[in-house]
Amino acid sequence: MEKEAKATVAELFGSSVFNEATMRERLPKVIFKQLMKSVAEGTSIDPAIAEVVANAMKDWALEKGATHFTHWFQPMTGITAEKHEAFIAPTEDGNAIMEFSGKELIKGEPDASSFPSGGLRATFEARGYTAWDVTSPAFVKDQTLFIPTAFCSYTGEALDLKTPLLRSMEALSRQALRVLRLFGDTETKRVATTMGPEQEYFLVDEKLYMQRPDLMFTGRTLFGAKPPKGQELEDQYFGSLKERVADYMHDLDQELWKLGVSARTKHNEVAPAQHELAPIFSTTNIATDHNQLTMEVMKKVAVRHGLACLLHEKPFAGVNGSGKHNNWSMATDTGRNLLEPGKTPASNAQFLVFLSAVLAAVDEYSGLLRASVASAGNDHRLGANEAPPAIISVYLGEQLTDVLEQIETGVTKENGKASHLRIGVSTLPALPMDTSDRNRTSPFAFTGNKFEFRMCGSSASIATPNFVLNTIVAETLSRLADRLEKAKDLESDVNKVVKELLNKHRRIVFNGNNYSEDWVKEAKKRGLKNLRTTVETMPELIAPANVKVLAKHGVLTEVESHSRYEIMAENYVKMVNIEALTMVEMTGRRILPAALKALRQTADTVAALKGAKATNAAADAVLAEISAATSDLKASLDCLATTVAGADAVHGSAIAHATYFRDQVIPCMQTLRAAADRLEGVVDASLWPFPTYADLLFRV
Ligand code: ADP
Ligand code: MG
Repeated sequence: MEKEAKATVAELFGSSVFNEATMRERLPKVIFKQLMKSVAEGTSIDPAIAEVVANAMKDWALEKGATHFTHWFQPMTGITAEKHEAFIAPTEDGNAIMEFSGKELIKGEPDASSFPSGGLRATFEARGYTAWDVTSPAFVKDQTLFIPTAFCSYTGEALDLKTPLLRSMEALSRQALRVLRLFGDTETKRVATTMGPEQEYFLVDEKLYMQRPDLMFTGRTLFGAKPPKGQELEDQYFGSLKERVADYMHDLDQELWKLGVSARTKHNEVAPAQHELAPIFSTTNIATDHNQLTMEVMKKVAVRHGLACLLHEKPFAGVNGSGKHNNWSMATDTGRNLLEPGKTPASNAQFLVFLSAVLAAVDEYSGLLRASVASAGNDHRLGANEAPPAIISVYLGEQLTDVLEQIETGVTKENGKASHLRIGVSTLPALPMDTSDRNRTSPFAFTGNKFEFRMCGSSASIATPNFVLNTIVAETLSRLADRLEKAKDLESDVNKVVKELLNKHRRIVFNGNNYSEDWVKEAKKRGLKNLRTTVETMPELIAPANVKVLAKHGVLTEVESHSRYEIMAENYVKMVNIEALTMVEMTGRRILPAALKALRQTADTVAALKGAKATNAAADAVLAEISAATSDLKASLDCLATTVAGADAVHGSAIAHATYFRDQVIPCMQTLRAAADRLEGVVDASLWPFPTYADLLFRV
């Protein structure tokens, strides 16, 4: 049995992907070689080669049952977009043949006027174009050949998340290579960033989901009293899977494997109905494509099982929300992980240079990094004692911190004597490689040979945090290279710069409990930023130093940065606006009528009791309670409706609009929710208009 199952997985894996093995098999040898060269070196494809590849791709896709092809791209909505076109082409005799040209493979021209551009593209020049990303393989899904592409305006500005990501990978490779050359590496041609994103999600019953307009429209519950049981018993975490969930996960794995997504671990998470899936890491652009696919397939497969998959950062108040742990490292094309502590003093020195570059980058650009994961959804999660706080710090672990302190002070602990501790000579203590040394509360933790950035939202694309991370590390690496390339004595200069960097950026290192109140105070003393909400992070996107670093490395032009700032504000306003309107509608048409029914029912009871001369204090009390809560509900409803309408009168910058929603609209939403949740506790359960938290969280 065991053997048979394994063979099936091997057969299944990548079976819907036009991957290297398939290309080797189906392309003429010279073409295959040239294509692989372009992939490895990131150079553009010769049209003649594209023609041959397109034809082979089409034949393969037709065999897989495809009738259409689509350029698949990632506009700034955070989700992917596709426009399907049939392979079909008419012939002169009135028949049709299946055709797909090199031109169609390389370039597409979707009418792009309805995608967010942040003012980059006027509607009269609505056309954007998509360009084949040769570094991410094409695949067949839903009878369609999907071609991963980048999406740009006609004038070349990036309109998507993939373009800056690819540009940032180039930038990091360029700078990392300069550093590697200093250490005598002449072999490496390219350094890629690697990424393994752990995806959290919730599963609820689809029928119950359909009865909740808030889940359908906004992805999270906007109402719902706390159930008697939540996550306090911690009986869900790593618990055994319910049969329905296990079936879902099995099916999900199969679908993902077909698409070449290496889904590896799966388990129950902390909150009831919460789960996690982690893939085996790959290069960041492929991991990003695969994570987008994973989210889509998760939703689709759920429907097959009568389930709904929730990817929102905070679907339920009072229980943990979902994140996406972004495991990041840098690797050479020869397969060396640059964040792997070395075994010899010389490789230690190189490791320390890369490590210090990351520390310096995260400290200096913490605001930009924080902004890269900000969204209305993630605001509910960060800093709410279940996820890292909004303050960025780096966890290194006791041992590594100790080593760095010894380097910084020049005092070795071993003999207590002040001796000059030099990197690259044997006095450097052996570097620890203790992966069990974990701190789950840290937003940015070193976990042995990679960093785990834990602030990313579960529903967001990982492209943005990764292009930021790649760019800022490229910058600190470039400064190191600038300096060390001039060094007369490399070893002593490496020693000096590492010391300097550690000294300058030590404030970013924090190994303690990030959830504690003391840390918030301590971080303030250290001068670290605490950007609690999306609105507070927005100015980071247009702060001169941040705009400059993105422009310097060719990742975003100044104009592109500004457009992303506009889009961020727009998205925030749209999201909160939809939530507010959904609350207004649910209250006006469902909760209030239910409350009035309950009021009438209770009033009838009270009247009947009175008539029977059996006045009852409990009935009187319930009537008074429902009556008061209903009045509160109506008052809060009116207040929210007026406040939302007031947004039209807010003029000025994008940030003024977003600030209005944060400071005026959200507090009204909270008041309305409190009134509704109070009513839920006193109204006859049979009258309550939608499934409760207990239903959603436990009836899977
Ligand atoms: P944990 O839950 O303890 O954080 P998981 O095994 O769930 O660990 O997830 C770890 C993730 O890190 C996996 O996706 C794994 O592939 C990824 N990973 C491991 N090594 C690297 C690396 N060098 N670069 C990027 N990601 C990595
Ligand atoms: Mg993790």
